[in-house]
Amino acid sequence: MAATPSYALRGTVGVVIAHPDDESMFFAPTLTTLGRRGQRAAVLCLSSGDFYGLGQTRKRELVKACGVLGVEEDDVVVIEHPKLQDGSTEAWPADVVSSHVHDFVQKFGIQTILTFDEGGVSGHSDHTAVNRGVALFLRTRAVTRHTASIAEGSGSSSSSSTLDAFALVTTGILRKYSGMLDMPWSLATSYGPPLGAFFSSCSARIAWAAMAAHHSQFVWYRRLFVIFSRYAYVNTFIRMHVPPPPLPPPPHR
Ligand SMILES: [Zn+2]
Repeated sequence: MAATPSYALRGTVGVVIAHPDDESMFFAPTLTTLGRRGQRAAVLCLSSGDFYGLGQTRKRELVKACGVLGVEEDDVVVIEHPKLQDGSTEAWPADVVSSHVHDFVQKFGIQTILTFDEGGVSGHSDHTAVNRGVALFLRTRAVTRHTASIAEGSGSSSSSSTLDAFALVTTGILRKYSGMLDMPWSLATSYGPPLGAFFSSCSARIAWAAMAAHHSQFVWYRRLFVIFSRYAYVNTFIRMHVPPPPLPPPPHR
């Protein structure tokens, strides 16, 4: 089956992940689809996954895996920050994540962000922290732009610099491990713009090849994951909604 995007994502697509291998385990259908369409994708990885002291190895593996998925080496960014460490007992601070997402968006001119949802697929605290950090970035950006538009007297923001953001849907465990069998259900429950997006690529072979590039991580249970996980075959997204900026205070009379 050919890769089937439900609709086109705008501009350069930025995928924000927590660890090297997240892109292969969870976002492979989307990255594969974008690569086939010739649409540029960049990856922001917020840690080097240095829990076992393998950070440098894992960074190289990430670049290699991204190459399999159609992402150029220069479009892969790995953050090394003391507060964003793999296996940290403290939750990653949303403001630190938000700051790196801001720099990433600026550097690559990102027009669409894809990241984890609040469930983080696996519930991993770093994944959910990435979602909170991206959400904070979106809120901060909306308030900044709103304030700037009021100062300019325009009252509205320019659409040329709008940013879409979508979160990868976390499913229940039955669907999660139903592999290709989840495809019809994903199709039936995906809805088009402006609410969601759907990408399929029945080429789990590519997800396998990308995951195999992570030599240090390609242990038996991750091999099983790639075989049985729906995320090797299909990605469904939900639009991340940003609360409206606060209303300005009433004028003094
Ligand atoms: Zn991860």
